[in-house]
Amino acid sequence: MSGKQKKVLVTGGGGFVGSHLCKALLEKGQRVICMDNYYTGSEKNISHLLSDENFKVINHNIIDSFDLEVDEIYNLACPASPPHYQKDPIYTLKTSVWGMLNVLENARRYGAKVLQASTSEVYGDPTLSPQSESYRGNVNTMGPRACYDEGKRVAETLCYDYNKSYDVEVKVVRIFNTYGPQMHPEDGRVVSNFILQALQNKPITIYGDGSQTRAFCYVSDLVDGFIRFMDTERKVTGPLNLGNPREMTIKQLADAVIELTNSASTVEYLPLPVDDPLQRCPDISFAENLLGWTPQVILEDGIKNTIEYFSNVSKS
Ligand code: NAD
Ligand code: UDP
Repeated sequence: MSGKQKKVLVTGGGGFVGSHLCKALLEKGQRVICMDNYYTGSEKNISHLLSDENFKVINHNIIDSFDLEVDEIYNLACPASPPHYQKDPIYTLKTSVWGMLNVLENARRYGAKVLQASTSEVYGDPTLSPQSESYRGNVNTMGPRACYDEGKRVAETLCYDYNKSYDVEVKVVRIFNTYGPQMHPEDGRVVSNFILQALQNKPITIYGDGSQTRAFCYVSDLVDGFIRFMDTERKVTGPLNLGNPREMTIKQLADAVIELTNSASTVEYLPLPVDDPLQRCPDISFAENLLGWTPQVILEDGIKNTIEYFSNVSKS
């Protein structure tokens, strides 16, 4: 390990991305505290880390304040899949906004740095593509996605204002669709749904006509970008897009999953959810220039790893 050992808090560390982040930070020799209430995450995601003496777990809801002396905070706590964040929109808003306030207050108290897991959803249903950080977005404040989109937008603003008013060091990452092992089998997001359906030879559920686009980033690339961004100069607050710029239609993703699983699944077309963004693709030039970062894992390899994970989960 280079430099002093840091004490790092990962809220949402029991979730899909958080569990990979905890592991990567431990591998770098840091002391890691995982804070989670397991709303969508699982203790299973971090069970392989429990034997590490540098790893500690706290069961806590970030809607309630907390007091922890740490050097860095990665704030990932928030349901991320549309069915989960829409189940209880007030909870999602409280987690995003009150949770963010509690994280920033704790950071202010101890002079800690904060990396906020924001989202490409702040761009809403974008009217231009690819989306760069300067795009202000097209969010429907009354729609079913608003609790998440607007919650994350307010959380971003809190970060910038704590930085300006109290000099709290903040780093805001706008994450684009990320996938990989440890997604919850009932997560409801497209990659896990398609892989599980394909493995069971069940119909692949495409919402709408499948022409809407997304660009999928493998989780190890995202985590690498997080850690690089946390280490940037104090004045760099973001927002910073992190994602894989290989845009594809949802029908193309379905075809790729069917091929890679060698599945007999057919495709079933279901209604497109209200306000589902029709196109999404990150402009990552800022991340490339600032961090020297570019995604390394191609979709076919990432999907194969995720297929292997879900094959083992369904056996256990
Ligand atoms: P996830 O649902 O797997 O993980 C979220 C974690 O937060 C879970 O472990 C959950 O139990 C925990 N949590 C929820 N509410 C909490 C609360 N009030 N207090 C404490 N813990 C709480 O989702 P993920 O995909 O790992 O996403 C992690 C973060 O990244 C989220 O903030 C999400 O908004 C953001 N993000 C993810 C993606 C993606 O594609 N995975 C895209 C954009 C943004
Ligand atoms: N989707 C789909 N079938 C599914 C799940 C999702 O066609 O079983 C579509 C969804 O309507 C959206 C895209 O896949 O257009 C990505 O959905 P996801 O929930 O993964 O993430 P989003 O980008 O919408 O937050």
